[in-house]
Amino acid sequence: MVTLSAEETQAAACRLAALLLPGDLILLYGDLGAGKTTFTQGFGDGLGVNARVTSPTFTLIQEYAGGRLPLYHFDLYRLAGHDEVFDLGFFDYLERGGVAVVEWPDRLENFVPNERLEVRIESKGEDERRITLVGIGGRYEALVAAVEIEAGPC
Ligand code: ADP
Ligand code: MG
Repeated sequence: MVTLSAEETQAAACRLAALLLPGDLILLYGDLGAGKTTFTQGFGDGLGVNARVTSPTFTLIQEYAGGRLPLYHFDLYRLAGHDEVFDLGFFDYLERGGVAVVEWPDRLENFVPNERLEVRIESKGEDERRITLVGIGGRYEALVAAVEIEAGPC
């Protein structure tokens, strides 16, 4: 889909959030400023978490409670090396019954889990973004086949 504002991207993420289940994993691909954190904000709104998602400067993981499901927001930009992902407890979070959303998932290198929903955000201009969903693994393939994240309110 194509969005023409940050609010449209948030609304798309907000609608997607309604479809997710405990343990789901979403990897957000896109350059700096593409809209990964903006997408995660809409996602938090959709889950109903009790704080606005922000772009963490120093923390690699921020947990948001109070919603339909817990949200684990990872920003791996500053991950020193892929070993650090174990220190962070990344794989433990995936077992804790929430939804994990990951910015800069390329930092995971060959530890990217086999089953995941990939969201690819490409900047097409100042406010235009192309958002592509790719489901990898049975559950996520079915999810992407069923979901239509066309523009619209959440
Ligand atoms: P990232 O986390 O990918 O580095 P951010 O979400 O922090 O990116 O920043 C994206 C910036 O682009 C924000 O300032 C946002 O307001 C702006 N923006 C403009 N148009 C859009 C759009 N269609 N979708 C998402 N963000 C947009
Ligand atoms: Mg970000």
